[in-house]
This record gives sequence, structure tokens and C-alpha cells, in this order.
Amino acid sequence: MARATSAIARVAPEVAAAYEPVIGLEVHVQLKTATKIFCACSTRFGDPPNTNTCPVCLGLPGSLPVLNKRALELALRASLALNLRVQQDSRFARKNYFYPDLPKGYQISMYELPLATHGRLELEHDGATKKIGITRLHLEEDAAKNIHEGFPDSDRNTYIDYNRCGMPLAEIVSEPDLRSPAEAYAYLSALKQVLEYADVSDCNMEEGSLRCDANVSVRRRGDQRFGTKTEVKNLNSFRYLQRALEYEIERHISVLESGGRISQETRLWNVAESRSESMRSKEFAHDYRYFPDPDLLPVSVSMSWLAEIQRGTPELPAARRRRFVQEHGLSAYDAGVLTATRALGDYFEAVVSAGGPPKTAASWIQTELLRRLNDSGQPVEASPLAPKALAGLLAQVEAGNITGASGKKVFAAMFETGKSAEEIVSAQGLAQIQDTAEIERMCREVVEKNPENVAKYRAGNEGVFKSFVGQVMKASRGRANPQIVNEILKRLLG
Ligand code: ADP
Ligand code: ZN
Ligand code: MG
Repeated sequence: MARATSAIARVAPEVAAAYEPVIGLEVHVQLKTATKIFCACSTRFGDPPNTNTCPVCLGLPGSLPVLNKRALELALRASLALNLRVQQDSRFARKNYFYPDLPKGYQISMYELPLATHGRLELEHDGATKKIGITRLHLEEDAAKNIHEGFPDSDRNTYIDYNRCGMPLAEIVSEPDLRSPAEAYAYLSALKQVLEYADVSDCNMEEGSLRCDANVSVRRRGDQRFGTKTEVKNLNSFRYLQRALEYEIERHISVLESGGRISQETRLWNVAESRSESMRSKEFAHDYRYFPDPDLLPVSVSMSWLAEIQRGTPELPAARRRRFVQEHGLSAYDAGVLTATRALGDYFEAVVSAGGPPKTAASWIQTELLRRLNDSGQPVEASPLAPKALAGLLAQVEAGNITGASGKKVFAAMFETGKSAEEIVSAQGLAQIQDTAEIERMCREVVEKNPENVAKYRAGNEGVFKSFVGQVMKASRGRANPQIVNEILKRLLG
């Protein structure tokens, strides 16, 4: 199908290079509470529609909201994890607008006095570390979910599921510090990682517990002032975030290059057509007639409670990376890979505490384990090879009972069968051959079969030595002790 009208003029790379993108993200995360933010309804995902509702979250007249202390606690924990300054006092306001998914006619959200401000998140991107400012974090309630598809009469009617209405959200607003779609992607990953480590949210984009709106503008490189921004909504995956930004940046440049102006507006990412489309012109704060919600008390957080929350916060990714370098002697790179998720870091530490040598464990996990998990599509939590079992295998290799090459075979078999290293080593006869006489016999055989290489080696071509070692290892099915093989071959050839 031709969609000539929707196409934007392609921008030549050298033209694009004259512009600098400026990006700021607004991220909504659903806090991991058992009940909603202002009532006792369950937050369980996937329950039948409209079963988790009550007069408060349905906005019935006369009902009164009461703040869920756990939601506040998790938002405070997130604030501390993101180096935000928690305000002494914050307050809920009413953001007034009409939409069927908002039965009260207003959303309860923090406005002038947010929970926390002035934070930052450190980012490793493109081999450099960058600090991204976080403007604010505030609490708010989620709206209901409009369902436009999936019913026999969906062409005429929209259904509404109020289960989501009143779910506790933290909105985290970044400064316009991001300079490329890839950097925005890295920021969202780092943010997700911190929030997962801090255990404040599941951050599940498919289930909507992590949602992101992207604000983007472009300016000529060297300009001090920012350009006019647009906001793109409906970015429910990392890939769409990056794609939508790439598209939108190109659209801005192409409009500006053809002498046009960007109008400040809210746009929607159309997944099916891979383009953004105008949704509405930009609304301004005064459109919402914000005012303090008289039904809710101001929130004041004591220093002692904050200190208690700080103490109860699990170790965060940056601290864990540092500790993996200092305590376990890993490289910064390895520490980064092994702390990518809490579960992977936990796995590594479990191998180490079961006696696995840290560096070897790090390398086997990154190569053998991650590759196999990737192939089988399993998360590390469900690894058929338990940390203790891997430690057992590494101990066998370390002690010289099996060679590194056999170790890989044993690893594969352990992964498939769930058996221990010892069982597999004895069943497959993989125990390392230490017997010098037997190894010498294999070496002699290889040497006798390759007179040309022997001549080459003796003529000074040391490169062929490796091929002798390789052939002996092959003849022994990877079991010969490589050190002994080396010594004997040197002697035979010397
Ligand atoms: P609004 O008044 O539209 O709510 P804010 O100043 O509150 O705008 O910022 C909302 C988001 O947009 C923030 O994440 C911020 O970093 C980002 N932002 C602000 N100005 C720009 C700009 N010129 N270009 C890109 N992003 C911007
Ligand atoms: Zn309710
Ligand atoms: Mg704003």
C-alpha cells in the first residue's frame, strides 16, 4: 500500500549531522504494592475486568481517598536510589480533565510540591560515563484502561476496565540531557535496572508496569537554545522508543530544512506503520486547572523514616559493580555484564560462595551459561544448571581432574541432563589423562605421522608446534593434560 502522504522527506546524513537531538523522558512505573494507591482494591494483574473496584477508585461521590503507606515508601526508596532530594513536604493536587477512563473527572497527582527533586542517574554508554539529571519524582494514580479491540462490537463500542484505575504510579521526569536515541535507550535501561534492583517495580513493559513518553527537539549544533519539542506517547518497548525517536528527529529536521516550523504537540507512535502521528496540540498546565486536593493530607516524611528506608534498600547496580571489581577481582566489563540483572548477579555470587573461583566463574557464566540460556530462551533463575553444580564443575577443572576442553562438554551435558559433574565425567570417561606414558605414546604417534611438520619445526618454524598439540588433544578426545602434552612434544621434537 502506498502511503505517499504520510512519508517524510528523507534527510541526507550530512544534513542530519548539522543538528543535535535533545531528548527528555517521562517514565511511569507501577509500584509493587498489594493494593491501590488510595483504596484497598487489589493490584493483581490479569484479574477479570472490573472486579477490583470500589467507590473510591470508581470516583463515586462521597468516597474518600486514603494514601497507601507502602506506595509512599516504595516511591521514597526509588527517590533515594535515583539520588533525588526528598522534599520535607509534598502534596497531592487534582489534575482536571475529562476522559472515560477517569471517572472522577480529575487525576490525583503531585504537581507544585512533588515528592522528590534534583536527582541524577549515571549512565555507561559508548564507553563513557554520563550523568543524566532527573528533574522530579512524584506519586500519582493510574487511569482505567480503554479497550478498543477484541469484542464482537469493537467497531462501534469501547469497553473500559477500571481495575487499573487507582494503581500506584511513580512518574520520573528526566532533564533534557539525552542527546541521541541510543542514549535515551541506555537511560531507560539503566533506570529500569535501578528500579528492579531497588525492588520498587516489576518494570514489565508488556504488562504496562513501565511506560515511557519521549520529549524530543532538535537544534543546530552549537546553538545554545533548545528547539520546539514534541512529545511521543505509546512507547511500550525499548525498540519502539528508539525507533520513534529516530523517526521524530528526522521529521523535525526535514520540517526545519524545508523552511517549516515544529508545532508543539503530543504525538502517538503508530506501531503498524512505524511513524508518529499528531494526537493533539500541546496542552498546558493551566488547561488542567490544578489545585491542591482537599481530601488528602500534605505528605511529610520524617528523617528517621527516610533513614530506615535507606537502610532497607537492597544493593544497587553501581555499588554491586564496584564490589564485583574490588571483592572478586573482575574487570569493569565483566562486572557490568554480571550485574545486568539482579538474578544474574545472584547466580554469580552463588557460584562463588559455593567455592567457584570468581574469575573462572565469571568467564564460564558469560560464555557457556549465557549462550545456552539464550538458545533455550530460559531466564537465569530457571537455569537447569544450579550455581552449586557449576561450582562443582569448575572445581574439577581447577583440580586438573578434567581439562578445560572436557569441561565444556561436561557443562553441556549437565545443562541438558541436570546431572552432577562427577556423574558425567565418570559416565563419559572424561577424566583427564595424567599418565605420562600414555600421553607419550599418543605424542609419538602424532609425530611419526607428520614428518613434514617435524622437518618444518626443526628448521625453525615454531608455528607448527600448535598443530602437534592440537592433534594430540584431538586423539585424546580433549582429555590429555595439556601441560604434559607440551612438555613431551617439546622433548620429542627438540
Ligand atoms: P511541559 O511543560 O511540556 O510539561 P517540561 O518542561 O515539564 O515540559 O518537560 C517535560 C519533559 O520534556 C522533560 O522530560 C524535559 O526534560 C523534556 N523537555 C523539555 N524541554 C525540551 C526540549 N526543548 N527538547 C526536548 N525535551 C525537552
Ligand atoms: Zn478501589
Ligand atoms: Mg511538565
